[in-house]
Amino acid sequence: MKRHTPAQTLFLSAQDMAAMVRQMGAASTLTRLADAIEADYVRWQDFDKCARVASHSSDGVIELMPIADAKTYAFKYVNGHPKNTRVGLPTVMAFGVLADVATGVPDLLSELTLTTALRTAAMSAVAARALARPNSRSMALIGNGAQSEFQALAFHHLLGIQEIRLFDTDPAATVKLMRNLQHSSLRLIACESIAQAVRGADIVTTVTADKTNATILTPDIIEPGMHINGVGGDCPGKTELHPDVLRGAAVFVQYEPQTRIEGDLQHLPADFAVTELWRVLRHEAPGRSHEAQVTLFDSVGFALEDYSALRFMRTAAQQLGYGQWVSLIPELANPKDLFSLIRPEAPLTAKAGARSVRRPELATA
Ligand code: NAD
Repeated sequence: MKRHTPAQTLFLSAQDMAAMVRQMGAASTLTRLADAIEADYVRWQDFDKCARVASHSSDGVIELMPIADAKTYAFKYVNGHPKNTRVGLPTVMAFGVLADVATGVPDLLSELTLTTALRTAAMSAVAARALARPNSRSMALIGNGAQSEFQALAFHHLLGIQEIRLFDTDPAATVKLMRNLQHSSLRLIACESIAQAVRGADIVTTVTADKTNATILTPDIIEPGMHINGVGGDCPGKTELHPDVLRGAAVFVQYEPQTRIEGDLQHLPADFAVTELWRVLRHEAPGRSHEAQVTLFDSVGFALEDYSALRFMRTAAQQLGYGQWVSLIPELANPKDLFSLIRPEAPLTAKAGARSVRRPELATA
């Protein structure tokens, strides 16, 4: 799989990604992804960061998530439309790009829907490795939709979670999760309520989707020492936790300016103290201070995880031979002569694997 010209882009489709992850195995992918994310968080100061740019509508949000270091620029396009599943579409869909900072050439164009689920789970595990009690064995998993199996497997393989207590307002979602993970060695228990699922758990993951200020967790069901992994509250007006759950916990975030707008933290005043996770990972700030402390990772999804995931997937694709080279950028004998592409005598089809295909409705018009 060779690049034909310096401006070609490696394209990884949704099918490529699924086949590649099946070949690598979920456990290995999640483990290596978590290590890649942690390594990038430890060099936090290398990155030019900003909160993601969101375009809100009545039923959802579309977001752009850029980030760069001195060599590589990355961005993700991602949406969040909780009602999508009713019309046969995922709530969250994404794709992303890696580009060379020195020239601006887009090196990689990749699916990121499956990869987002993997990287979100890997990020949750990175945070929990630093914050949860080390002997944690059981987890409540509230919300059993598209992201949920990935969360379950990341906590199983990276933290040693053995038992998962499940709840979803849609019982079919729980049945789907149990079927998908029936061959894992996890003990899966379907529960009748959130309170029943949470009771006695070491870790509580909330990964529900509803465009509202929901109250999935209330302070009365939180027990001393729990670690809360709040994943689904990630947009203004879309939260999962009662504000007193945050007040009763040590709260950790990815990038504070973004989480203040999007996380469950949006309920609390601007001076409510939180710790950015990179500081804990660099041992510059404490994580959990004692066994009985409640720790809370207010996850919203930050561009750095996608930068890490895109780089990890590009390396894996090159090693395993997935993807194809496409020409997003025109090939020019003289780079100042862009007009040469549309001169009447210019060839109608491009060279080397970048055949232009006319859409049928245009072809017959
Ligand atoms: P999904 O629509 O596939 O699944 C969500 C599930 O939540 C559904 O099964 C639904 O029935 C359930 N649910 C809704 N309200 C509930 C309630 N009150 N109690 C229990 N269950 C409830 O969505 P998904 O792709 O799994 O995403 C889940 C959430 O995670 C979304 O809100 C999404 O925006 C968020 N997310 C966050 C990150 C991050 O990095 N923090 C990344 C990806 C997705």
